[in-house]
Amino acid sequence: MKPTIVLVGRPNVGKSTLFNRLTRTRDALVADQPGLTRDRHYGIGRVGDRDYLVVDTAGFDPVAKDGIMHEMARQAEQAIAEADVLLFLVDGRAGRTPHDEQIAARLRRSGRPVHLVVNKAEGLERSLASADFHALGFGAPLPVSAAHGDGIKQLIDLVLAPFPLDDDPQSSEDSGPAVAIVGRPNVGKSTLVNTLIGEERVIAFDLPGTTRDAIAIPFERGGKNYTLIDTAGLRRRGRVFEAVEKFSVIKTLQAIQEANVAVLVLDASQDISDQDAHIAGFVLEAGRALVVAINKWDAVDDYQRDQLKQEITRKLGFLSFARFHQISALRSDGVGGLLKSVDAAYAAAMSNLSTPQLTRIMQAAIAKQAPPRHGTSRPKLRYAHQGGMNPPIIVIHGNSLENLPTSYVRYLERAFMEAFKLQGTPLRIQFRTAH
Ligand code: GDP
Ligand code: GDP
Repeated sequence: MKPTIVLVGRPNVGKSTLFNRLTRTRDALVADQPGLTRDRHYGIGRVGDRDYLVVDTAGFDPVAKDGIMHEMARQAEQAIAEADVLLFLVDGRAGRTPHDEQIAARLRRSGRPVHLVVNKAEGLERSLASADFHALGFGAPLPVSAAHGDGIKQLIDLVLAPFPLDDDPQSSEDSGPAVAIVGRPNVGKSTLVNTLIGEERVIAFDLPGTTRDAIAIPFERGGKNYTLIDTAGLRRRGRVFEAVEKFSVIKTLQAIQEANVAVLVLDASQDISDQDAHIAGFVLEAGRALVVAINKWDAVDDYQRDQLKQEITRKLGFLSFARFHQISALRSDGVGGLLKSVDAAYAAAMSNLSTPQLTRIMQAAIAKQAPPRHGTSRPKLRYAHQGGMNPPIIVIHGNSLENLPTSYVRYLERAFMEAFKLQGTPLRIQFRTAH
C-alpha cells in the first residue's frame, strides 16, 4: 500500500508549495482534462521510484472551536491520525515561533512518526537553520527549498525508507478484479457492498495483521470472482457488513490505488458536489478503470432525474470514458448490469495492444487528420507500442512530438479508445521524441 505523507505547519511556512512540488509529476497527467478541478488538499505523487499519497492540512489551527476553521481542523486531525509519516514544516527564514511549539506539542501526542522539515532553506547556512529548530524535539531538521526543489528527493528517500516499494495492483485469474466502491458519505456504499456480497459467498474473510493493510474481501458473484478493497473499515455482523469507521478521504484514495476498478457511487437524490468531482478526479489521476453508479434511483422523480443528467454532463464531463448505471442498492436494481460494466472496464484496462495494430490505428488517424504544423516543422509520428496496463499506456515515437497540441493528443486518444473499444478505462499517451 502506498504510504501517506501528511504536511503540517503553521500558515505561510510553504505547505502548499511543497504539496505542489510533491504532486507535480501527476499534475501534468490530468491538468488538461476539461472540467476537472483538483482537490488541493489530497494528491498522488512520485519522486524517483517512490509513490505516495500526500495530504496538505492547510488551515490547521489547533485552537479553532467552531465554523469552517473547526471543520478544517477536524479534517486535519483525521489526516494526522491516519498518517504514515508526518512532515512538520517550519520556516527557516522566520525561525522558531510559539505557534511552531504549539504544533510540536500536538504532534508529539499523535504517536505517528514526525520529521521536522526546515523550508525556505535555499542559501541558508545549514547549521544555523538547524540549531534553532532542534529545540522542537524532533531530532535533526531536514533542510529543503520547496520553491526551488532543493533537498526534496533526499527528503522523500529518507522519510519513506521504512516502507516497502509498492507495485501497482496485482490481480490474478483466481481472485478476479480488485474493486473499490468509493463515494462521499451517505451515498449508499455500504448498502451496495451488502447487496453485492452480503448474501453471496464470501470466500475467506480474514482481518489483516497490521493496520496498514487494505482489507481485501474476496467474493463470488454470478460464477465470477472479485476482490473488494474496503474503504470504510467494514466488519461482518451476521449476514451483513457494517461500516465501523467514519468516512475517510485517505482510505478512499488508498483503496482507489489498490484497486483495478473503482465504482464511484453518486446519490441521485442530491446535487453533484465538489467532493463527488474530487473523488472522480482521483480515479482519473490514479489511472484506474471506472464505473459510475447513480444510486437511489428509486427515490427520485422524473424532474430530478432530468436535472441530475444535466448536472452530470456539466460537472463530471471528464468521465466520458466511463459507463454510468442507474441503480438502487437498497432494492438491488441494476446491480447485475453494474458488475457487467466492472468486468468490461477491467478487461479494457488490462488489454493487450499489439505494436502493429497500434501503429496502424495511429497512421489511419493521421491520414484522416494530420497533426498541425508548428512553425516550419510538422510533428512526425512514427510508431506506437504499449508501455503499460491499468491504465493502458501508449508510447508514440517520432520527432517534434512536444509540439503536438492537446487537442490533437485528445484526438489520438479517441481514435485508440474507439479502435480498441477501451470504454471504462482512462488511457495515457506518452511521447518519445528522437532529436
Ligand atoms: P502555506 O500557508 O504553508 O501553504 O505556505 P505557502 O506554500 O502558501 O507559502 C507561503 C509563502 O512562502 C509563499 O509566498 C511562497 O512563495 C513562499 N515559499 C514557499 N516555499 C519557499 C521556499 O522554499 N523558499 C522561499 N524563499 N519561499 C518559499
Ligand atoms: P455510505 O455512507 O455511502 O456507506 O451510505 P449507506 O449505505 O450507509 O447509505 C446511506 C443511507 O442511504 C441509508 O439510510 C440507506 O438506507 C440509504 N440508501 C442506500 N441505498 C439506497 C437506495 O438505493 N435507495 C434509497 N432510497 N436509499 C438508499
